[in-house]
Amino acid sequence: MEEKNIIELKNITKTYEDGFTAVGDFNLEVKRGEFVTFLGPSGCGKTTTLRMIAGFDLPSSGEILLNGKDISNIPPYERPINTVFQRYALFPHMNIYDNIAFGLKQKKVEKETIRKKVKKMLELVDLEGFENRSVSTLSGGQQQRVAIARALVNEPEILLLDEPLGALDLKMRQEMQLELKSMHDRLGITFIYVTHDQEEALTMSDKIVVMNEGRIQQIGTPEDIYNEPHNAFVADFIGESNIFNGIMTGSLKARFCGGVFDCVDDVPEGTQITAVVRPEDVEITAPEKGQIRGRVIGVIFKGMHYETTVQCGRYEVVAKSTKTQKVGDTVGLCVEPDGIHIMIAEDNTNVFTVDMNRNHRLEYNGNVLDTSLTKIIKGSHRNENKELIDENGEIIDPDKIKIIAAIKPMDITMTDDVDADDVLLTGTISSLIYKGDHYSYVLQTDLGQDFIVDDEDLWNMGDLVGLIIPVDKMKFTVKK
Ligand code: ADP
Ligand code: MG
Repeated sequence: MEEKNIIELKNITKTYEDGFTAVGDFNLEVKRGEFVTFLGPSGCGKTTTLRMIAGFDLPSSGEILLNGKDISNIPPYERPINTVFQRYALFPHMNIYDNIAFGLKQKKVEKETIRKKVKKMLELVDLEGFENRSVSTLSGGQQQRVAIARALVNEPEILLLDEPLGALDLKMRQEMQLELKSMHDRLGITFIYVTHDQEEALTMSDKIVVMNEGRIQQIGTPEDIYNEPHNAFVADFIGESNIFNGIMTGSLKARFCGGVFDCVDDVPEGTQITAVVRPEDVEITAPEKGQIRGRVIGVIFKGMHYETTVQCGRYEVVAKSTKTQKVGDTVGLCVEPDGIHIMIAEDNTNVFTVDMNRNHRLEYNGNVLDTSLTKIIKGSHRNENKELIDENGEIIDPDKIKIIAAIKPMDITMTDDVDADDVLLTGTISSLIYKGDHYSYVLQTDLGQDFIVDDEDLWNMGDLVGLIIPVDKMKFTVKK
């Protein structure tokens, strides 16, 4: 028998009165009994989406179907949906019994029935005998259990949980994660859960919806999301990853980080790619045995393993291993084909990390980039010492900020005058493909990063050229 969708969101968009679109083109199917999690950074639209499902907010466009029927005209209290919020919005002047019974009393349910149901709920959340306690005598975890009981006593078809464990300490949070999961499995109710914590999402969910800036990035099982991230955002957000820009140089062969690697994703030759490699898939070898080489710049003991950072050209590659390494040593690095996840880069844009130097200027490969950092870092300004100050009034630490630049292949110019002032870096042409009206070149640089450059002229393989990358054509993204 085909499983039924209990809820469907179709092309949901939410634009607030100030014109800000918090959720865009959101499409989702939730099956009855599923545990679905919305996962994404703060401000990505999780709560907004939940509020539309609950009926507290209306979508600007699109429709929400409950059991196949549009529910846009059904007010929140008539939807078979209850919500648990992060802050346990309990009534402080009522005891635990009255808090849980509140909804049923409103509905004029018979007293004896209420008593039975409240008792059952208290058992469910492991708070038997707490009927007469006042809210203020309960710990945060206990209060949140009451909030869950109060939502479940209405026997909703769907329980919405908006970062319900966000205010609890780590140990209590982990305990409650397991309890919520087992509650879900016992009750068979559909849970839609919101969190910004990737581990929480991976532990609890049947299905994860990864969101960023109001858009769905990927929907999948925890395994899918972890093992086959659809784009660099998902890879980066879900666990630690090494992310490289590269190019397909042959059938099942990808070039990145200064090496050529066999891979399992069949992507056409000449395609600009992003390769994602999990630290646990990077093997540290003797220098001569590695597919690439680098210098160990950091080793951290993490209890069960060592996290080793290796500098390979401009890339810092993180590896997890059971053996420790000596900082300063040269090592080899290997990655098995199935440890490499290839994603097709959008429109062949070159992406590279630029530095903020000690003088609080932007720099790449030793060249200061003539651009305004205060415009790139939102809310920042310079103080009288020309230091960059963030929105909270604190001096920005260059080591704690990552700035990523993007440039289109057609915006880069090649020159044979490699010493010219405006040359940012030099590279060797390692591949060229005729694209009908221009050539697409791959420039191998000694920074371990390849650049794709489009040019109408024919250059030769192996030519050493200077790359002129105009700063006004670069797009910058800031990461903390
Ligand atoms: P999340 O729950 O993922 O942290 P929200 O759904 O609360 O994110 O918010 C998404 C975005 O919408 C945020 O940028 C937030 O500032 C904005 N937003 C939320 N409510 C309103 C509102 N009433 N008016 C304008 N913008 C809003
Ligand atoms: Mg929220």
